[in-house]
Amino acid sequence: MNALTHPLTHLVNLQSPLNLKDYYQQGGYLGAEKALKAYSPSQVLDIVKKSQLKGRGGAGFPTGMKWSFVPDYDESDPRSQENKYLVCNADEMEPGTFKDRLLLEGVPHQLIEAMIIAAYTIGANKAYIFLRGEYHLAAQRIETALKEAYQANWLGKNIQGSDYQLDLYLHTSAGRYICGEETALINALEGKRANPRAKPPFPQVAGLFGKPTIVNNVETLCNLPHILKNGPEWFINLAPNSDAGSKIYGACGRIKNPGLWELPMGATIGEVLNKHAGGMQEGLKLKGLLPGGASTDFLLPEHLDTPMDYDSIAKAGSRLGTGGLIVLDDKNCPVAMVLNLLQFFAQESCGWCTPCRDGTPWAVEILTRIEQGKGTIDDIDSLLKLCDFMWIGKTHCALAPGAVEPLKSALKYFNDEFMQHIEQGCCPYHGAY
Ligand code: NAD
Repeated sequence: MNALTHPLTHLVNLQSPLNLKDYYQQGGYLGAEKALKAYSPSQVLDIVKKSQLKGRGGAGFPTGMKWSFVPDYDESDPRSQENKYLVCNADEMEPGTFKDRLLLEGVPHQLIEAMIIAAYTIGANKAYIFLRGEYHLAAQRIETALKEAYQANWLGKNIQGSDYQLDLYLHTSAGRYICGEETALINALEGKRANPRAKPPFPQVAGLFGKPTIVNNVETLCNLPHILKNGPEWFINLAPNSDAGSKIYGACGRIKNPGLWELPMGATIGEVLNKHAGGMQEGLKLKGLLPGGASTDFLLPEHLDTPMDYDSIAKAGSRLGTGGLIVLDDKNCPVAMVLNLLQFFAQESCGWCTPCRDGTPWAVEILTRIEQGKGTIDDIDSLLKLCDFMWIGKTHCALAPGAVEPLKSALKYFNDEFMQHIEQGCCPYHGAY
């Protein structure tokens, strides 16, 4: 592994992350130094735009474009710089997704360096890391790194002799999936109940405390020091396909070697699953998979050659999401798997809008009936109607449409298995309940 091919993970040390001195020795903070000393904020913005970096939280929105929506710094109004915020979304709660944890626990200074670059570019003097409540080890390690960064004047006033100042705070979440939705996260940070807000206005214009705010995912941000050090062309050339950079892919399920691997963006599903995750465990066959966490559509063994980039996965009928594969084998019941996912989404619904509050538990009720062999053919029809009832445009945020993705695609690809439950009056995998 080296810094040019595995920029995000080559310094990861889960036993004992690099302290500031060792991070320096490995070229740490050179990206932030370059940003502050060699470039104006608008020049850094141009570099990030040129790099074609897209958000790694799941949606893949172009990072430079997102930043460019922040109103310009007004030299005549010094308050305009104080009143912007950068927030790192480290509330990683997507099922089957643990890539940000690796970066948070394994190389916390990389994130701090990245946030200095991002905050400088958008003109924010205050930044927050909104961390998943259960990530206790990450919290300890970030606190330690923050102390070191303040002591070495990478945070605070006049950073490294410049006229730029930044305060960076760690905020741990109370522990709800919806807190990862950027506007719910902002409400939580303000001390309010974590309900998503209506968009527009987008946070870039009216976010934390009503001020322009950029919310970026951990993995997205961690690319910045490397883009600054090596340039946007290097970042683009890391990947063979249309999307730039590397990506931390993951895999879990009954496979030989569950884990995480940083690969060029666009590695195929088969490469991740068979080469890196070691393929299926003995005696099991691949039946299907969710390519990027629970809120993505199932794909099938016929999709193994699909590159895991945003466009290719979309063409195959799903979304790249977080890039964390959740693998379904032929001895596990697809109805039970989808029921398990829907139970999660129903529990995590904030309850604000009717389609999500009532639709997700309703889907759980029907799926439970089918799984227990008590379902009818009408239940399939009801589930399909529910999928429509909870789809994009009819809900307050992306939670319910995310829940629909595995459900709708399971009904499409595993229709025979749903019918077997109904016709046999029991689960063909687990027997009678
Ligand atoms: P989204 O597409 O609505 O927004 C993504 C980002 O782009 C946001 O920052 C948003 O402000 C910005 N954006 C989108 N359209 C814009 C516009 N017209 N103008 C200005 N900015 C715009 O997606 P989302 O609801 O923020 O996130 C959904 C994704 O989150 C899903 O893809 C899911 O896979 C992922 N997710 C990840 C986790 C995790 O733990 N990493 C958890 C839950 C969901």
